[in-house]
Amino acid sequence: MRIKALNRETYEKIAAGEVIDRPASIVRELIDNSLDAEADQIRLSLTEGGKSLIQIHDNGFGMTKEDLEICFLKHTTSKIKEFEDIYKSISLGFRGEALNSISIVSELEICSKTNENDVGNCIKIKEGKLLDISETAFNTGTNIKVKNLFFNLPVRRKSLKSDTAEFRQIKDVFIQKSIPFYDRNFILTHNGKEVYNSNKSENPLKRIELFYSKDVRSHLIEIEQEFKEFTIHGYISESNYFKPNKKYQHVFVNQRPIFSGALSHAMNSAYEGICPIGQHPLAFIFIQMNPELTDVNIHPTKREIKLLIEKELYHGLYHLIKEAVTRTFSIPTLQIHDPPVKEAMREYYQSKGSNHDPTFQFDYSQNNQKSFQSKLDTSPVEYDQSTYKILGVLFHTYILLEKEAEFFILDQHAAHERLEYEKIKAKLKDKNISSQGLLTPFVIDFSEDEFTIVSNNLTELKSLGYDLEIFGESSFSVNAIPFFIKDDKVKENIEKLTEDILDNKTVPDPLKFIDESLKMKACKTAVKSGDSLSYSEIEYLLKELMTYPNPFACPHGRPTALKMSRTEIEKMFLRI
Ligand code: ADP
Ligand code: MG
Repeated sequence: MRIKALNRETYEKIAAGEVIDRPASIVRELIDNSLDAEADQIRLSLTEGGKSLIQIHDNGFGMTKEDLEICFLKHTTSKIKEFEDIYKSISLGFRGEALNSISIVSELEICSKTNENDVGNCIKIKEGKLLDISETAFNTGTNIKVKNLFFNLPVRRKSLKSDTAEFRQIKDVFIQKSIPFYDRNFILTHNGKEVYNSNKSENPLKRIELFYSKDVRSHLIEIEQEFKEFTIHGYISESNYFKPNKKYQHVFVNQRPIFSGALSHAMNSAYEGICPIGQHPLAFIFIQMNPELTDVNIHPTKREIKLLIEKELYHGLYHLIKEAVTRTFSIPTLQIHDPPVKEAMREYYQSKGSNHDPTFQFDYSQNNQKSFQSKLDTSPVEYDQSTYKILGVLFHTYILLEKEAEFFILDQHAAHERLEYEKIKAKLKDKNISSQGLLTPFVIDFSEDEFTIVSNNLTELKSLGYDLEIFGESSFSVNAIPFFIKDDKVKENIEKLTEDILDNKTVPDPLKFIDESLKMKACKTAVKSGDSLSYSEIEYLLKELMTYPNPFACPHGRPTALKMSRTEIEKMFLRI
């Protein structure tokens, strides 16, 4: 016989390792415990990235002597009594394994006192065994010291990263935990130096400023809406403020930081057409909902939770953000950042003593009339000169405009692309996307999973313009596709569609899904940079563009226009 039961010491260490893999995971568990104990002051002190000491002192309701004697044993918890309670409770912990796991892999000391008792008690535990218990004078609350982490697991200890790297991870946990609990005081100290002291506050903004920056805070827009089954409150990026990574995107459900692929997708999609490729919007989203609509028991560290109304949350979040972003969209300001250029300009104009006036000329010559009838319909339009005055075209690419005390540079390709995109989108608004039948239907194969999902969504797919028919055990024959998809892109498009369905477990919003194809189509139809446009073509473009929301963002997220105020120009010429 080859199978043997592991001895207790071995399996305990293995089990502990699942919960506690590094100092940051201890910090996460201990902060959760202090929050569950209703502490409103939580002081976290660390030495050497938490490797030699993690200490957390809270003013929560504390533990009695009897509680202390058992709190570190396996599956001991005060938070639930039976399994179903986890769906009702909003406590952060409930498995009763954190203190047990920590006690197995470190030297643990806990001192605690409740309001009902005059004195407190301290316990010392090593490798899961109680070494000592004694009475002590102590204020109501709990102080936990975790020393010499992994002293009995040398390989695990060795695999820890540098103090700085471990501390960085702890800092992330500290930030994630304290942002949603902005009404409590959190203090973080490392090697005796205070890193953060975040006072109680009425909203998370002060905390966001402390952890990220003033700049970040000043570029956030507040969103809030009550839905039938949940409320969403949060702060999101202004429409021209992005970061090159997703570290600034946080979602909290009932104050618990979570990762959700679907909600992350919703946030990013809401910025589509505005956020440049490679950049990401910022978002701090706080969702409150009945805990019975979530299952927090699906992930060992509860980082992911199951959202039973994910689809509703997806739509709610997407539309709320989209609406706010569209409402606050603004044109990027043209700035001369490079000080040497600015300096050089200043010197030049000062030395000339001139008010050099490089007037932009509009070229009405014949070759300019090489018309773009095919691309821009230039039937006479009533163009209100009082809005935007056309000054000319620069490099056959940039339309120069003046409006009141502002000067604009409009990228003709981006602008026309936006117009085309909006026009196609408007046509599709009724969601009745017309199909084109295929002369020779073709067959595509799917894995079992994909096949099930796709076959459950055939009606939805039809509304997107796809006519698929089950053909054999795991294949479909494709009979028709939406009109805007080119024949040679069908396979690729359907694969992407199924990927999307698999990721989000639902058929995407038709308009959103076809967005990519629409953008490509708009991009292809639009006039290019270098194409000469006639005056009436420009007038037409402007007039039409102004009838749509976001006229100054191209669907790919690049700006359509740059703007400069008269004051800014005058400043550069040292007139003011
Ligand atoms: P869980 O949090 O899942 O209940 P833990 O092992 O983290 O399990 O903690 C065990 C028990 O110890 C908790 O249920 C709680 O009663 C008690 N406890 C732990 N930390 C604290 C604290 N800081 N203040 C008060 N009680 C605590
Ligand atoms: Mg706990």
